[in-house]
Amino acid sequence: MTTDTPKMRALGVSVYYGSKRAVADVSIDISREHVTAFIGPSGCGKSTFLRSFNRMNDTIAGARVEGRIELDGEDIHSSSMDVVQLRARVGMVFQKPNPFPKSIYENVAYGPRIHGLAAGRTELEEIVERSLKRAGLWEEVKDRLAESGTALSGGQQQRLCIARAVAVDPEVILMDEPASALDPIATARIEELIHELRGRYAIVIVTHNMQQAARVSQRTAFFHLGELVEYGKTSEIFTNPTVPRTKDYITGRYG
Ligand code: ADP
Ligand code: MG
Repeated sequence: MTTDTPKMRALGVSVYYGSKRAVADVSIDISREHVTAFIGPSGCGKSTFLRSFNRMNDTIAGARVEGRIELDGEDIHSSSMDVVQLRARVGMVFQKPNPFPKSIYENVAYGPRIHGLAAGRTELEEIVERSLKRAGLWEEVKDRLAESGTALSGGQQQRLCIARAVAVDPEVILMDEPASALDPIATARIEELIHELRGRYAIVIVTHNMQQAARVSQRTAFFHLGELVEYGKTSEIFTNPTVPRTKDYITGRYG
């Protein structure tokens, strides 16, 4: 597959909560090599739309998704798509760090174990170490892997959640405001990590922080009232948006 074929693709996607439409007929291609940011005012449907990429809306009572979503050209709603497998291929990191109330080691080992990715204990240990290294956490935790994941600082917990996502060898990582609960230093560490992970995984990040979108992404999609208003190169969206609604938002006129 060439680098310019989209990793994921949404075609005419709408998401409803009951009769209320939260995402309205959105089509977008997600690049495999760039970081894509979803921006827009609170309530515009960013999280709802993001959740449709790994069918997390299936878990929300009353939510209904219309339209087509593809992963490497394959329909993620088709009957041949195993949703557990899909969520390993398209991992997710949430706003609030949510490690399991288990050891640091177990937090990372759990996914590879249930997906049968390790032939034995040594291999599992290797996956845990590699994932924690990739998430920039190994040096801080290598001597206390048996301690509880919930005892870590907020920033460390979020990097543990990234290690957990990475451990099952995903192709795409969805991040929903991954740094919004963190202090500036922990936030900078997450942003640095996004740079390091770029290229290895297709990354989509939701953020209401425009400076963050400008720093971490190469593609930006601006949403308003459930609609995709404008999508393009981050540098152009922030310096030369073509739609007045985008311009009003990035110049701080609302949101
Ligand atoms: P954003 O992430 O951009 O802040 P959301 O995707 O969370 O926006 O929400 C989009 C719209 O859908 C909002 O009007 C919100 O109130 C509504 N919404 C979100 N989650 C639910 C839910 N579980 N049930 C009903 N409405 C919801
Ligand atoms: Mg949200």
